[in-house]
Amino acid sequence: MFENLSDRLERSFKILKGEGKITEINVAETLKDVRRALLDADVNYKVAKTFTDTVKKKAMGMNVLTAVKPGQLMVKIVHDELTELMGGKAVGLKLEGRPAIILMSGLQGSGKTTFSGKLANMLKAKQRKNPLLVACDVYRPAAIEQLRVVGQTVGVPVYSEPDSKNVLDIAAHAISEAKAKGHDVVIIDTAGRLAVDEQMMDEIEALKNSVRPDETLFVVDSMTGQDAVNTAKEFNDRLDFDGVVLTKLDGDTRGGAALSIRTVVTKPIKFVGTGEKMEAVDVFHPERMADRILGMGDIVSLVERAQEQFDEKQAKELEKKIRRNQFDFNDFMNQIQQIKKMGNIKDLAAMIPGVGKAIKDVDIDDNAFKGIEAIINSMTPKERIHPEIINQSRRMRIAKGSGTNIQDVNRLLKQFDQTRKMMKMVAGTSNSKMMQMANA
Ligand code: GDP
Repeated sequence: MFENLSDRLERSFKILKGEGKITEINVAETLKDVRRALLDADVNYKVAKTFTDTVKKKAMGMNVLTAVKPGQLMVKIVHDELTELMGGKAVGLKLEGRPAIILMSGLQGSGKTTFSGKLANMLKAKQRKNPLLVACDVYRPAAIEQLRVVGQTVGVPVYSEPDSKNVLDIAAHAISEAKAKGHDVVIIDTAGRLAVDEQMMDEIEALKNSVRPDETLFVVDSMTGQDAVNTAKEFNDRLDFDGVVLTKLDGDTRGGAALSIRTVVTKPIKFVGTGEKMEAVDVFHPERMADRILGMGDIVSLVERAQEQFDEKQAKELEKKIRRNQFDFNDFMNQIQQIKKMGNIKDLAAMIPGVGKAIKDVDIDDNAFKGIEAIINSMTPKERIHPEIINQSRRMRIAKGSGTNIQDVNRLLKQFDQTRKMMKMVAGTSNSKMMQMANA
């Protein structure tokens, strides 16, 4: 996401950076380019204009013309202003009620059900909450089933009444059940239509007045561009919601919605969805998003994701095995699973400064490990622990079993062998030797 906008902004700033002497004309020209880049990224016209006007005023106020590094100062001003445009600081959820109630709203297909699952998962894992999911989309029988599947995936119970169409009753019963069973958060998934209609608005408004949620979240598909902004406005006029969830930021979105919504509805973006998996969700940090838009990468989020998946006990065990030179294919497989849990590989790589743009056209997906996994899965338990026993006939059997060919198997075995040798070397090097090597 945002690649086009990053490219364009980077090019605009190059004009500034390349100039020996910066003039008011360069600044004006650069800002014109910035505005065009924003409009092309689907940012609302008024938002783009106000944005560049403010940047210009600030640039002049900070004497950008006489600054030592005018280009850098401009990038900083634009970065700070982008951060401000998206709300300045991250805004968390307010979960004070007992149970706390979160109501989802949005059009059909925006990603409400998926996000309900992601949120339940996040609250459970990170805040040690005990959520209950509630199916209030009573018009599509498949919707209840979908929420049930999502609940099962994340290990959170789902309350539903398949025979009832009265959402106020269902929600009230669910809340009673939550109280009785000690759930501290209730997440209510609601029905959406393909477009805003009165009946849907009446229903969700009545639901909001009846359950008095701690948080009403508006879920919107960021790929819908300007429509996203208009829909947000209509929902906000009726529901006065508390925050926005932008989904599908992993897709081909030009990202303009993220930049405009906050200004148009003056409500914070609280979360972003970045894929179909339950882990593909991030708390929205305006500053980090500004970093990403300007192609500065988002190392903080990357490290956070890595830490979430990092199991300290498992890491200690692994270290011990490496020291004893016992690292085997089971460990190898575990490591692959850990990387996969962190989310879409391309998405992760995009968070590394400079990499996002470089890999824009490269096709890396979660299937990247498929061949390797298939090969390891075709090994016997003994072969995984003692790969040195894998002779030619075993290699052929593994290739056949995994649907790969003998070259693939050879390559993996060779790579594994090299990894082991390297590990042995590092493990065998004392700290002082390492220091000597580092200082050499
Ligand atoms: P609902 O009708 O609002 O409940 O929407 P769903 O949760 O059923 O989502 C509609 C479709 O969008 C499903 O196929 C989801 O898998 C997909 N989806 C939801 N969130 C994301 C996201 O962040 N990224 C991507 N790529 N797909 C998503």
